[in-house]
Amino acid sequence: MRKFPEKINARTSSSRRSSEKRNVRLTQVTNVIDLTPHLRRIVFTGKGLYGFPAGEEGAHVKVVLPAAGEQKPVLDLGGKDKPVMRSYTIQKYDPLSNQLSLDFVVNRHQGPATNWAAQAKKGDYLGIAGPGVKKLTRFTAQAFLLVGDLTSINAVSAFAQSTPAEADVHVLLLVPGRDDVIKLDVGEHVSIQWLVEEESELSESVLKLAGQLPEDTQVFLGLEAAQVKKLTTVLQEQLNIDRSNIHTSSYWIRGKSA
Ligand SMILES: Cc1cc2nc3c(=O)[nH]c(=O)nc-3n(C[C@H](O)[C@H](O)[C@H](O)COP(=O)(O)OP(=O)(O)OC[C@H]3O[C@@H](n4cnc5c(N)ncnc54)[C@H](O)[C@@H]3O)c2cc1C
Repeated sequence: MRKFPEKINARTSSSRRSSEKRNVRLTQVTNVIDLTPHLRRIVFTGKGLYGFPAGEEGAHVKVVLPAAGEQKPVLDLGGKDKPVMRSYTIQKYDPLSNQLSLDFVVNRHQGPATNWAAQAKKGDYLGIAGPGVKKLTRFTAQAFLLVGDLTSINAVSAFAQSTPAEADVHVLLLVPGRDDVIKLDVGEHVSIQWLVEEESELSESVLKLAGQLPEDTQVFLGLEAAQVKKLTTVLQEQLNIDRSNIHTSSYWIRGKSA
C-alpha cells in the first residue's frame, strides 16, 4: 500500500509567504517542558522535519492543529477541510538532532492552539508550515529597542542575538508575573528589563527608555494589537521617531480569535 507522504509540496512557489501556506510537515512531540507558569516549550521531531531551514530562529511557523477527535492534522491545505492554524515563533531548530522547539503561552486564555499545547504529550502529532519572514531584518543600526511579551519572546531574543556587540541594545519584556522571567541567551551588550503586567505601565517604560536613545534607533514592537498601535503613536508623536524605524507586529488581538 502506498504510504501517505509526511511532507506535502503542493506547488513550488517563489515567495516565502506562499510556501509557508502550502508546505505542511508532519511532526510529533518529543518533549514538553514547562518553562514558567505561562510558557510551555514543546519540542517536535519527525521525518517530515528533514530539510527544515536552519538559522531561522525568531521567524514564525504556522502550527496546523488536528481536527477535534483526530490524531493527525490535515496536511493538504488546498482541500475542502480547512485545518485550524496559528502562528508560533521558532525558538530553535537543530538540524543535527532534527528537533524544532516552539514556546506556547498557556494558562492565559482558551483557544485551539493554547488548549492543544496545555494537553500535549510525547507522540502527539502537529503540522508545521513555514517558516515565514522575520519581522526585523536590519541589524546595522547603533541602537535597538526591542519590546515584546511572552508570545514574542523568541523573536525578541533572536533579534537581540543578531545585533552587533558594539550596538546599544535594550529589551523590554512584559510578563504576567515575576515567575515568568527566564534566562535569555543574548550577548552582554543587551540590557533586559522585565515588566510585570499589573505592576507597570508599558508606554511609560517604553517612552522613558526610548527617550534616552538616538532618534534613528530601530524599534521592534511585538505585542497585543492595541498596545502596538498605542506605542507606535506615542513614539512618533512624543519622541519624533520616524515610522520607518518602528517595526511592528501584532502578535495577538484581545477578544478576537486569530
Ligand atoms: C508572527 C507571530 C508569532 C507568534 N509566536 C508565538 C509564540 O511563539 N508563542 C505564543 O504563545 N504565541 C505566539 N503568537 C501569538 C499566537 O499566534 C496567538 O496568541 C494566537 O491567538 C493563539 O491562538 P489560540 O488558538 O490559543 O487562541 P485564539 O483562538 O486565537 O484566541 C482565543 C482568545 O484568546 C485570546 N488570546 C490569544 N492569545 C492570547 C495571549 N497570548 N494572551 C491572552 N489572551 C490571548 C484572544 O484575544 C481570543 O479572545 C504569535 C503570533 C504571531 C503573529
